Amino acid sequence: MCGSAAWARPATTNPHPAAHRTRPHAPPYRTLTRRAAESAPMSTYRDLTAPIGSRRAPVLRTVGTRERRSHLTAPRVPTVGIDIGGTKVMAGVVDADGNILERLRTETPDKSKSPRVVEDTIVELVLDLSDRHDVHAVGIGAAGWVDADRNRVLFAPHLSWRNEPLRDRLSDRLSVPVLVDNDANAAAWAEWRFGAGRDEDHLVMITLGTGIGGAILEDGRVKRGKYGVAGEFGHMQVVPGGHRCPCGNRGCWEQYSSGNALVREARELAAADSPVAYGIIEHVKGDISAITGPMITELAREGDAMCIELLEDIGQWLGVGIANLAAALDPSCFVIGGGVSAADDLLIGPARDAFKRHLTGRGYRPEARIARAQLGPEAGMVGAADLARLVARRFRRAKRRRVERYERYERYAEARRAAREAL
Ligand SMILES: [Zn+2]
Repeated sequence: MCGSAAWARPATTNPHPAAHRTRPHAPPYRTLTRRAAESAPMSTYRDLTAPIGSRRAPVLRTVGTRERRSHLTAPRVPTVGIDIGGTKVMAGVVDADGNILERLRTETPDKSKSPRVVEDTIVELVLDLSDRHDVHAVGIGAAGWVDADRNRVLFAPHLSWRNEPLRDRLSDRLSVPVLVDNDANAAAWAEWRFGAGRDEDHLVMITLGTGIGGAILEDGRVKRGKYGVAGEFGHMQVVPGGHRCPCGNRGCWEQYSSGNALVREARELAAADSPVAYGIIEHVKGDISAITGPMITELAREGDAMCIELLEDIGQWLGVGIANLAAALDPSCFVIGGGVSAADDLLIGPARDAFKRHLTGRGYRPEARIARAQLGPEAGMVGAADLARLVARRFRRAKRRRVERYERYERYAEARRAAREAL
C-alpha cells in the first residue's frame, strides 16, 4: 500500500532532526506556533488594523490571552468599577481580592440627555474616588451591547448611546486605561472570580431583572461571540405565538421568567379580582399599579399562597430555559443572579425540578449545578473593576491630580468662552 510507506518514513527525513533527538515527544515547532495563534484570535488582526499612533491598541491586544490567567498575572492594584444600569450608576474602588474599598452611587442621566452627560457623570465619579485612592484603571459594565473590540457601546436601551466609542473617549479624558464590557459579562466574571461560580471552568450566568441577561464563561474567558453580543438568552423563543415582547417577537423567554413577568401575572390576577389575590390587593390598598417584584417576594416569604405560586411559575420557566441552554452549552454550573434571585429557594427550587424534567438525555448525563449568585447587586461593579486590572498600569496619584486640574481648567475655559459669546 502506498499510504503505509508515507507513515513509515525514516527518521532521517525529519526537517528538525536535532530537536527530535533531544525532545523525542515534543510536537514539531510549527504546530505549536499555529495553536498559539489560534488561541489568541485578537492578536494579528489588530496588529494590522490598529491605526498608526494608537496608544491603546497594544494594551487591548493582550487582553484576550491575559483574561484566562488574569488572577495570576494582572497587577494587584485597586481599580475602579462602574456599573451603569437603567436607573442608577454605581462606582466603587475594588482591590485585587474583590473587596470594595469605597462605593458611590448616583442616578442614571435621563435617556433624552446627550451621551456627553453620561460621560461627565462617569468622569466625576472617578475623579471623586481618585481623591482618596490610587486608581490604576477603570472598568465599565454597561447595560447594552458592546462590540467585540470592547470599545463601542452599540446600543443601550436605557441610554442615548448609539455606536458610542466610550472606551476611547473616557481613556482620553481620564488618562488611565479603560475597559468597557457588557454588565452581565462583568457580573458573571465577578461570580466566577469571587462568588458562587468560583473555579468553575464552564459557567453560564443568568440574571433575572426586569428582563433576562446572560453570559457564558469558558476556561476563564468570557465568550462574547464574533460581534460581542453573545449571551442574550432572554429573547430565545419558548412559547410560539406567546406573549408579545418589546423586541418585536412573541413568546420570548423573558416574557415568562423575569421580574416583569412576575409583576404582570400578579397584576392580571389582581385586576381580575381573583380571590387568590386578595392578600396582595389588601397590601397595596387596591392600587394595583403599586405591585412590584420585591413586594411579591416579600409576601411569598410571609406565606402568601398566590405569591409563592407565581414565583414557582417563574422558577419553572427558568428551569425549562436552563435545560435548553444545557443542551446547547453543557456547562458545569448555572449561576442565577439579578433582583428576582432574592426569592432564593422559592424560585430556584422549582427551577431545579423543571430543569431535571426537561434536560435532554436526563439520567444518562451529569447534571449541572444551579446556584444562586452570591455578590448581589454589586457583582457588575466588582466584575468591571476586576476586568479592568487586565489593562491596568501603575499610576501615581500625582498624575491623577494633574488630570483633575486639567479637567477643571477645561470647564473654566468653556465657561469663559460661553460668557464671551453671550456678550
Ligand atoms: Zn423578545
